[in-house]
Amino acid sequence: MHASGLELTAEERQAVLDFLCALVRTSGFSGDEGAVAALVLAEMQRLGFDDVWMDAAGNVIGRVGPPHGPALMLNSHMDTVKVADPAAWQVDPFGAEIREGRLYGLGACDMKSGLAATVYAGALLKKRGVALQGPLLVACVGLEEPAEGTCTRVLFEEDGLRPDWVVIAEPSNLQIARGQRGHVEMLLTVKGRSAHSSAPELGRNAIYGAARLIFNLEILAGQLADDPFLGPGVLAVTDIRSHAVSRNAIPDRCEMTLDRRLTIGETEAMAVLEIQRIITREGASADVRVIEEEVTTHTGKVYRVRRASLPWAVEERHPLVRAMAQAVRTAGLRPTMTRWHFATEGAYTAAVAQVPTVGFGPGDPALPHTVNEYVEIEQVYTAAQVYAALSMRLLSG
Ligand SMILES: [Zn+2]
Repeated sequence: MHASGLELTAEERQAVLDFLCALVRTSGFSGDEGAVAALVLAEMQRLGFDDVWMDAAGNVIGRVGPPHGPALMLNSHMDTVKVADPAAWQVDPFGAEIREGRLYGLGACDMKSGLAATVYAGALLKKRGVALQGPLLVACVGLEEPAEGTCTRVLFEEDGLRPDWVVIAEPSNLQIARGQRGHVEMLLTVKGRSAHSSAPELGRNAIYGAARLIFNLEILAGQLADDPFLGPGVLAVTDIRSHAVSRNAIPDRCEMTLDRRLTIGETEAMAVLEIQRIITREGASADVRVIEEEVTTHTGKVYRVRRASLPWAVEERHPLVRAMAQAVRTAGLRPTMTRWHFATEGAYTAAVAQVPTVGFGPGDPALPHTVNEYVEIEQVYTAAQVYAALSMRLLSG
């Protein structure tokens, strides 16, 4: 069949919209995605997917097509951030209110709309009877917001899924996102020596030590590597705390959080070494480390994660990018390229697993984590059609 046959009927558009509304009305904060997972699982089963299951980490995976052969994964996350400022919302964050072609609610943009579109891409292939030579894997993961890449790592390393291509369905305004910067969150601790503040010469003030380092960090931030596509590396001090035994004591410790964005050519080790070099040069009594923390899935599995990810970018002429551009054209759109400013599961699939990865999704990428988040509903239908067209192109030969 021709890709133009993948356009959604009025009935199918209504079904996607109903599913998306149900998703927005179901809360799924990070680590608490159980209800959303159940909803996704039931919808995939209802739509006749060839196999649907939940793994030990609580990810939901649906397969359309045979289990073996070339495999495409459409990847979404089920979790949302919390409602940061409920008073600032002009609509109910869980109301799934529709106004002038827009659907409002927490996760409407990031990224329940992308998720709904990937599920319905699978449904379209089933309904149109497209014969596939390999599986379309619609993967819906948890914990993206606090620990991007963690649950997708489970799909690959614990579940044994090994797709040949990945599409990240995070919001891109239906542009083709072909990369993102990496990031490292570091804790920089400056040690001082406590003394009574009436005799500061007897101690060593950790805040003064921190001030000298901050001055150097600001200079370093202006000298980081640059990439014509992803832009420059970035370094910012995002938090500072000090400790003194009383108001009349010289502080013996000062801690800073550093947010470092990595561009192409930069690594986590380089980012840490740069800071260590400053510490050495200043003769400061300080140490720096990458922040690690534990996250727990909605099924109770605990993972220790490093707050670090690598940058990635796929060439504009890469076959996957070209196939995506073709799929976009079948929906009557002109393909345009972009990059993401936020982190996605692509940090794992592209940079760690080295699987060709591209991003494409409904919703404005400026809207995640903002109040009155919304998605243009028409974009959700288009995305479903584009994902289905891409699947047909890659999997049906
Ligand atoms: Zn997201």
